[in-house]
Amino acid sequence: MLAQATGNGLDTPVASLRDVVQALDTELRTFDIPDYGGAVNGLQVANRGTVRKVAVAVDASRAAITEAAISGANLLVVHHGLFWGGAQPLTGVHYEKFRTLFGADIAVYSTHLPLDCHPELGNNVRLAQALGLVPSAGFARYKSIDVGVMGDANEPTANVLARVEAFAARYGGSVRTSIPVGSRTTKRWAICTGGGASTETLREARERGVDTLIVGEGPHHTTVEALEHDFCVIYAGHYATETLGVQALGAWIEARFGVPWTFLHLPTGS
Ligand SMILES: [Zn+2]
Repeated sequence: MLAQATGNGLDTPVASLRDVVQALDTELRTFDIPDYGGAVNGLQVANRGTVRKVAVAVDASRAAITEAAISGANLLVVHHGLFWGGAQPLTGVHYEKFRTLFGADIAVYSTHLPLDCHPELGNNVRLAQALGLVPSAGFARYKSIDVGVMGDANEPTANVLARVEAFAARYGGSVRTSIPVGSRTTKRWAICTGGGASTETLREARERGVDTLIVGEGPHHTTVEALEHDFCVIYAGHYATETLGVQALGAWIEARFGVPWTFLHLPTGS
């Protein structure tokens, strides 16, 4: 799958877009993992067929596409793709995004829940590793998959919170908790990255004996519910908690195909 460029005098690895996409689809089980309709997992935009450099980003935002073009990437891998809002006219910002992609010959590959739940490259597993937590089971059931992870511990929740805060700060995020951590002890934790706090995940956490739930964000009512149940939810930022999966994928593509990759750090403040 790894070929050398010919005819341009450069000794730069070149991969076929088709090979990269097939490898990603297989590794991520792109078409077996259930997801929300707007996710449109897999190759969302093609290019002329070759990849010399990969850019990875959390969001397929206009800024990410512009930065990908500046970086010289031919493939942009994202967690939140171009079609979250469903079908829409190619006008305004939407048009500008596609114009930039076509002009710079950049393909877009999007992977939402397939990346969240991947056992080695996934956002949830990688966040647990970054926080020094060892998963022992899945968490946050969605149809046939567990999106998140959970495990056991025995340490002051303040220590867990300090590590979450240090992690979030590295990615420009801030952290809040549903209740003051005080002298609590974390005996069983769970992680669901991104918009991981919901009535369903809070209920599952309580039913499974979780005392510390780490998420990206969640609606206001989840804080109210957590307060009512004296339950600790750590909101670590949607963006920050979903930065690790795409970076793991960038490294995975380079290891397999030899093409370099770059992470486009574009924090949203959420
Ligand atoms: Zn997300």
